Amino acid sequence: MRNKLERAYYSFIADDRRASRILFLLIALAFTWFAIFAKNTPLLGPVPHRLLNVLPAITAFLSFLLVTLTPWGYKNWQSLVTVFLYEFNIINIYLLYATQLLDMYAYQFIIGVVISSYFFQNRKQIRHFFMALNTGVLFTLFTSHAQSSAPADFYVTYLVSQVVFAVLYRYRFITEDKLVESERRYRLLAENSFDLICIHAVDARLEFVSPSIKRLMGYEPDDLTGKYPAWFMHPDDASQLGNFDFRDERRSFLDKPMQFRLKSKTGQYHWFETVFTLLSDSDGTTGVVLSQSRNIDNRRLYAEQLEDRTRELERSNADLETFAFVSSHDMQEPLRMISNYTQLLKKRYSDKLDSDAKEYIEYANRGAIQLSQLIRDLLAYSRIGRADVVRSRVNMARLLDEMKKNIELEVSEKQALIEYNELHEAYADKNMLMLVVQNLVLNGIKYNSSVRPVVKITSELAEHNRQVVYCVEDNGIGIDEAHQQKIFEPFQRLHTKAEYPGTGLGLSICKKIIERGGGRIWVKSSLGNGAGFYFSLPAAN
Ligand code: ADP
Repeated sequence: MRNKLERAYYSFIADDRRASRILFLLIALAFTWFAIFAKNTPLLGPVPHRLLNVLPAITAFLSFLLVTLTPWGYKNWQSLVTVFLYEFNIINIYLLYATQLLDMYAYQFIIGVVISSYFFQNRKQIRHFFMALNTGVLFTLFTSHAQSSAPADFYVTYLVSQVVFAVLYRYRFITEDKLVESERRYRLLAENSFDLICIHAVDARLEFVSPSIKRLMGYEPDDLTGKYPAWFMHPDDASQLGNFDFRDERRSFLDKPMQFRLKSKTGQYHWFETVFTLLSDSDGTTGVVLSQSRNIDNRRLYAEQLEDRTRELERSNADLETFAFVSSHDMQEPLRMISNYTQLLKKRYSDKLDSDAKEYIEYANRGAIQLSQLIRDLLAYSRIGRADVVRSRVNMARLLDEMKKNIELEVSEKQALIEYNELHEAYADKNMLMLVVQNLVLNGIKYNSSVRPVVKITSELAEHNRQVVYCVEDNGIGIDEAHQQKIFEPFQRLHTKAEYPGTGLGLSICKKIIERGGGRIWVKSSLGNGAGFYFSLPAAN
């Protein structure tokens, strides 16, 4: 109930103009009624009191007309109304005095006071009005010759009316202060925001544009109010948005960031990211859309620069790969010649050469074999970047069966054991995956000083069954933790060629293949305790 009354009161005072008109009309009608129907009591002075009632009635009618006809905001109407209000309250005091506080005039006076105090717009005006009024009332009290109990009744009622009035005005100013404060806060927010804040009608027309538009694009808010966003939007972006109407049932524009270019006052386009939000009834509005736009010129610039650089890197990477491919391919032929002719030299002239010469030929031959291995690995490495990845469902256990046949020689030479059961299937390029497991298994056998090298392959699902992680584990020499990162880089070896032959490209080939296949590779090991190489790939299901 209290809330309802409060709300009714606030909504009444919120519309100053409407409230003023209603009140002036009521005063005018009341005093007209007094002028026509009040009993004609003799006055102390020469003027009949009916005539005196006509004056406040006319004053109130004039004020009513003034409020109705003058453009709102025109300051002088307020000064005129103030003069009228003082005038008719003074007449009322005179009526009080002249009729010896006659009941009818006493209450007429109180009603007049309470209603007219509504029209004073600030605390200072109200204080002045009350000082003037109460001086008049006190004067009447001291000069009144009333015989009856009227003065006591009058002053009690007057006091009560003052209390009621004080309570109502406290409310009024509290609300006004709150409104002013919140209005100030929102204005500060809207004016100082780095973003552009706009309110749109449902057909997208701009109803409010925050003053930040001046800083962002050089316009005054009024330049854009009433216009459609398409007016200053880049034509390509505007056409992308279609008819841009929030009444559209699908409301595809709402609540998600959109990027477009807006034309500044100087004609330059700037990139903005905007979010449109439909304000609901609970916000006190209907069918209004709020938009917040942020300048993203810098972000777009960085993104474009990044894209350019990525493209450049990709190009230079591709160039390098082509270079490595072509040069290693072309090197194979002369290398074969060196190898063939040193062999021929050894065969044909072995009886003519001394042991030193034979040893040198042997060195040259070994060098040629190593170089040929290096070229083969380099070719394999550069091919991975160039070849298309052909993914399919790969049965890992069957792939390992096949692989075992390829490395029979190495396995039997070292009496190695390769262990695995059924494994999870992966979605990968079969040939490339073969290269990976072959490399890892051969390393497990090679870097192994156990009497019986054992390489065990297991698998498990990860990431909610989306990925399968394979583990190739050996009982070999293990890897010091300090070097576990660098072994995946090209040409990084932890041993000399005399200790263990190799080119240092095997694990980098594995890494490249796994990363192209959408996974990653890592190692868990410690020196002397074997090594476990793990790699993940998309699971087949
Ligand atoms: P390569 O075997 O041709 O030298 P890799 O890239 O395959 O090249 O391996 C890089 C280095 O990582 C090897 O030189 C070796 O020192 C180490 N390494 C690789 N696999 C193992 C393993 N299973 N156990 C111990 N060390 C290993």
